[in-house]
Amino acid sequence: MRIGHGYDVHKLVEERDLILCGEKIEFEKGLLGHSDADVALHALCDAMLGACAMGDIGRHFPDTDMKYKGISSMILLKEVKEIVKKAGYKLSNADITIVCQRPKLAPYIENMQKNVASVLDVNKDQINVKATTTEKLGFEGTGEGISTTCVVLLENL
Ligand code: MG
Repeated sequence: MRIGHGYDVHKLVEERDLILCGEKIEFEKGLLGHSDADVALHALCDAMLGACAMGDIGRHFPDTDMKYKGISSMILLKEVKEIVKKAGYKLSNADITIVCQRPKLAPYIENMQKNVASVLDVNKDQINVKATTTEKLGFEGTGEGISTTCVVLLENL
């Protein structure tokens, strides 16, 4: 078994969609980034790559490459799944924590879990997504950005 950890931050700006775990969230702002800036999936990708010692998302999908401009991070996650498979591992479980003051994410959690499970081709009970605020402290608390941490466990194929 191998354990991996991922962490990512993106800035909240106007005139961008807010996409978290492949789910479009109703909000007046969205995350800024080269791809769709799905901070939750980026942390998950980094955790999976980290667990099999394959570097990080920036190494595999550089933000200088126009090929990845505006790309759905669901596509990146699918590619990461293949990299992990080639390295000889499959996902055992993932636990994703999204740190976000606003908007309330509770109504979207179940769909987020379904989205991730379907891309990774695992059961729903292998994926946990949760959200927390920071009691208005720090950049997440003031609404400047959203961060996500993630841990995963991989097992041999
Ligand atoms: Mg990112």
